[in-house]
Amino acid sequence: MRKHLPALLAVCAGVLLGFWALLPPRPAGLNAPGFSALRARRDIDVIAKAPHTAWDPPSLVPVRDHIRGRLAAMGLTVTTNRYGPIQDAFGHTCTLENLAASIPGRSGSCLLLVSHFDSAPKKRPKEEEGSCGAGDDGYGVATMLEIAGLLTASKAPLENGIRFLFTDGEETGLLGARAEMERNLGAYQDVNLVINLEARGIKGPVVMFETGRNNLASLRMYRRAHRAFAYSFAVDVYRRMPNGTDLTEFINKGFSGLNFAVLEDLSYYHTPRDNPANISLGSLQHYGEQVLPVVRAYAADARYGGREAFVSRQDMVYFSWLPGLFFSWSRNADRLLSGCLAVLILAWAGWTLATLQATLAGTLRWLLVWAGLAVASLAAGLGTSFLLAKAMHAMWRLTYLPKVPHERLLTWGMVVALALVAYVLGGRRAHKGRMDRAPLLGALGLNLVLLLVMSVVMPGGTFLFSMPLLVCFAAVVLADVTQRPVAALIGVVFTVSLFVPVLHLFSLALTTGALGILLLIAAFPLALAGSVARCEDGLGRR
Ligand SMILES: [Zn+2]
Repeated sequence: MRKHLPALLAVCAGVLLGFWALLPPRPAGLNAPGFSALRARRDIDVIAKAPHTAWDPPSLVPVRDHIRGRLAAMGLTVTTNRYGPIQDAFGHTCTLENLAASIPGRSGSCLLLVSHFDSAPKKRPKEEEGSCGAGDDGYGVATMLEIAGLLTASKAPLENGIRFLFTDGEETGLLGARAEMERNLGAYQDVNLVINLEARGIKGPVVMFETGRNNLASLRMYRRAHRAFAYSFAVDVYRRMPNGTDLTEFINKGFSGLNFAVLEDLSYYHTPRDNPANISLGSLQHYGEQVLPVVRAYAADARYGGREAFVSRQDMVYFSWLPGLFFSWSRNADRLLSGCLAVLILAWAGWTLATLQATLAGTLRWLLVWAGLAVASLAAGLGTSFLLAKAMHAMWRLTYLPKVPHERLLTWGMVVALALVAYVLGGRRAHKGRMDRAPLLGALGLNLVLLLVMSVVMPGGTFLFSMPLLVCFAAVVLADVTQRPVAALIGVVFTVSLFVPVLHLFSLALTTGALGILLLIAAFPLALAGSVARCEDGLGRR
């Protein structure tokens, strides 16, 4: 048991660091100089007193009146953009009233903040009725009002302008945003960046989960966020999903944009439990902490003016690590990084084979073993989610099987089981008592293959392979050079801490339906971490 203690401690440290990254910030008090969740929540208390859907027009009147009143009190002129009557996909007819306001800037360019003020009606037979829209999208509306209040209170003239759009009928088919884009596009000629604030849950960290196409320049802007929380992988996944938010309408017209949402706890989403009593002040604070610095930087810096300021030719690859650390680099730099990693690891593998620390046949065998583990994980996850759907009499969908009892326990239980298998496998030696690096070389090789595949298929996901490869490889080399085997465990700590939030967000976004994909994604870093954790055994006997 003592032999396994360092590895166990490394995994525990990684898990703790990983969950630490998921904690939203502490809400700032009523008199805080910056964004304050406590102040912003007062708007949610008013807006979300009762359900207010586009299918019940009188229920939206007090909500619009509140938003108008708040903006007018800041000295802003509020415009009402009326569209309709419009028939939505559900057969309801409604007249839309979007609300708009702006703080002009010297350059004539504007950043547009968007959120929707309608709450979700019961659209499908199984859905619950009566969401008060405290999170969805009270978070967005309240964040925008708080930001408008802070900007107008400072009275300093802006270099670039900030516009605010509160949309109607989002929940019944993105109607408000679509009407703006289809019937009023000319009014958005001055907008060069759109920030949309959404919610698909009620708590947890706020994720920047979607961007426009070729997001390099928008991501440079997003780096200004305090406690930025985003993974380029999410953008690639979201682009392949049928889901849409108001931002979709803007992106379809070629706008650059950033989209933010909380994802945690679908059991509140579009239900009566989405009410002011259940909001998370930490999450609300996290919206403000990320968006306010971006808005302030945009408003103050002449470089962000002009129509082309956010036009790029490529995407960024990026990820968050620990609370507040955010790493991003261009697609071109990513290709270079992948190439260098491949050369480095292949050279090291060649040297390892040449010095008889492993055989080529053994390495290839281990590459197949780890690939087999990945396929088995995929099959186990798919099978489990499929059987669960059957047992629940629910329709099985790869990206949507919500409300599975004890889903979190089930998901993490399977990940832990997979980790144990990887650890046990990683310790198996072809030649007993002699150091054999074939398991490690196999795991490095498999991750390298996946890195190169991802680089072509889903470039936003390359960091899931390149970062563990880089850190694990460096840790093993460090352990070799210093003759301190325990140094290799740095790779384990890093890999686990990187993947805990990724897997958590993945399971929140795609639910238990995607359990198979989740385990598949987990299998590669766990194969690497398992063999790195056990390469210590071999080193000890050298
Ligand atoms: Zn919404």
